[in-house]
Amino acid sequence: MQLQDIKGLGLTTTKYLNELGIYTVKDLVEYYPFRYEIIENSDLKTINDGDKIIIGGILENIPSVFHFNRKLNKMSFHLNIGSFITNVTIFNRAFLKSKLLIGSQITVIGKFDKKHNSITASDIKFGLIDKTLIEPIYHSSFKINSTKISKIINSALKKITIPNFLPEYLIDKYHFIDKNKAVNIAHNPKNKEELKKALDLLKYEELFTFMLKINNLKNTKKKDNGLTRQVPYAKIEDFIQKLPFKLTKDQLISVKDIYDDLTSPRRMNRLLQGDVGSGKTIVSFISLYINYLGGYQGALMAPTEILASQHYTNFIKFFPNLNTVLLTGKLKAKEKREIKKQIEEGKADIIIGTHALISEDVKYNNLGLVITDEQHRFGVAQRGNLKNKGITPDILYMSATPIPRTYALTLYGDMDISSIRTMPSGRKPVKTYVKTNKEIKDVLYMMLDQIKAHHQIYVIAPLIEESDKIDLENIYKLEEKMQKAFGKICHIGIMHGKMTNQEKEKVMDAFKQNKIQILISTTVIEVGVDVANATMIVIFDSFRFGLSALHQLRGRVGRNDLDSYCILISDKETKRLEVLTKTNDGFKVSEEDFKLRGGGDIFGLRQSGDMNFKLADIKNDYDLLLKAKEDSQYFLKNKEYKLEKYSYIKNKINESTNLD
Ligand code: ADP
Ligand code: MG
Repeated sequence: MQLQDIKGLGLTTTKYLNELGIYTVKDLVEYYPFRYEIIENSDLKTINDGDKIIIGGILENIPSVFHFNRKLNKMSFHLNIGSFITNVTIFNRAFLKSKLLIGSQITVIGKFDKKHNSITASDIKFGLIDKTLIEPIYHSSFKINSTKISKIINSALKKITIPNFLPEYLIDKYHFIDKNKAVNIAHNPKNKEELKKALDLLKYEELFTFMLKINNLKNTKKKDNGLTRQVPYAKIEDFIQKLPFKLTKDQLISVKDIYDDLTSPRRMNRLLQGDVGSGKTIVSFISLYINYLGGYQGALMAPTEILASQHYTNFIKFFPNLNTVLLTGKLKAKEKREIKKQIEEGKADIIIGTHALISEDVKYNNLGLVITDEQHRFGVAQRGNLKNKGITPDILYMSATPIPRTYALTLYGDMDISSIRTMPSGRKPVKTYVKTNKEIKDVLYMMLDQIKAHHQIYVIAPLIEESDKIDLENIYKLEEKMQKAFGKICHIGIMHGKMTNQEKEKVMDAFKQNKIQILISTTVIEVGVDVANATMIVIFDSFRFGLSALHQLRGRVGRNDLDSYCILISDKETKRLEVLTKTNDGFKVSEEDFKLRGGGDIFGLRQSGDMNFKLADIKNDYDLLLKAKEDSQYFLKNKEYKLEKYSYIKNKINESTNLD
């Protein structure tokens, strides 16, 4: 079944879904909410202004209805909730008026405006409902909101059966609920208990199949012969000598690790981890060079177009004589065809791009090395799509989110790791401060100093990426404030998740060229974006982020020898945030972050960005991960449960293993 077969899904909506990364019905039903809004029976006395509420009461008067036009109407009435009477307004429900009799018991769901003692309701239910409401919140866009996504998912769910990928004995062992039921509940939870059960199964299945894949690879890899290359190290040394800077010790060791892998017959499967700004990119470039000298094509995949073109520009500066192509989604069809031809005929030596690199119809001539930058952003399955002529290329993953060794070992067991632990010399640590909202004046003065010094500033707005209008209001309100404070002396730009890639790129370019001095943004500023003149980052509501994520954001500044600053604004959890004021070492930050695990609310915001799981979170679900690891090893070892007997599981884990 295809997306178009779903009721009510036209071409336009399909396109909007594509923009969210949803291409198939499978993508759609696995597009789980990124958080759940839990609305409990509320007590209006303790509630905050603007909170979502569900509350029951008795209708006090005959509702009054106002018609704007044939389609729009507004109905208002008074609701007696026991302790006092509040105003309720609801749009476009005039048809309910005849049923709303004085004295009837109803429950309203909506937002409470404390100052005006009124509720703007989104729904009315008859009778007193003593329940918790759980609303799934999906990542959405301007063009398609969370509610619409929920509707589409639900019509898809009615039409399909979702395959289960767990052997029965494991379902029994953990008393898991039925897979189809679980998926339905994840999208339409009625209460916390059933939601937890559903998520437990879905997360476990995700972790189990992942670990099965990893462990299965480990078993098959031994037979797997890699490529050998005849490359004299002197040539590499020669190139390194000519660089405008001296490579750090760890960079040199990493280059040597990779050189050894690429020249030995063993197939490379290596993770290069290093803090933001530690200089992974040049190591990856040298790896591509080694591979090129060995006679093979090399591909470098970046998670976004901005990063891909940044890599491309840098690469051709270092290697003007190689034939390097940039392949991204936004190329014109004709250009794309031409580039693909060059790739297929072997004329392109180095291919840099986004996920377009792994789209089905790119054929490589003799691909020897694949590098993925910020690997956590790619699904393993995506990487598996590379079409190559019978060669199994060597693989290098790069990650700026160092994960503590124990976690890395659990997840990757057999993967080799190179770490860049030291920063290039001359780099100063980013001075980090935690400030409360009351101290905003201090912050504005600190910003002013930077502006006066002709430096640039990133401001991360207090919002999470979702559809709520309030969040967008937040970014515009913040822009207004910044305009008031700095509008006369500099240019201010905004960037958020609901802009198209093109719009974002335009703003980003303006910032790079210093046409904008203050860039207000959601977290969409790209990992890896390099603007050396930016010396300050101000992060509102920083409690919303994990320490590693904050450290990543902080890495946007401090990219040269200027003094640079990171200001964390938060009224909550300041103690946790203090960790960042004490260290600039990403490995230490990550260890602290993992130490603090367990506090996470399972229904709350998922820590995104760590791995590419849809639901599981290696930090909060670490115990589940350990179980999945053990179970998958047992499953592979035990004759009774041989993978051969489980073709459906086998297919699932093979989906993505033709490359890895
Ligand atoms: P990341 O590890 O986050 O990808 P980059 O590779 O983007 O870091 O490096 C950040 C900046 O530091 C780049 O401008 C790069 O050219 C520069 N750089 C890399 N290695 C060194 C070095 N050894 N000495 C000085 N500058 C370096
Ligand atoms: Mg990088």
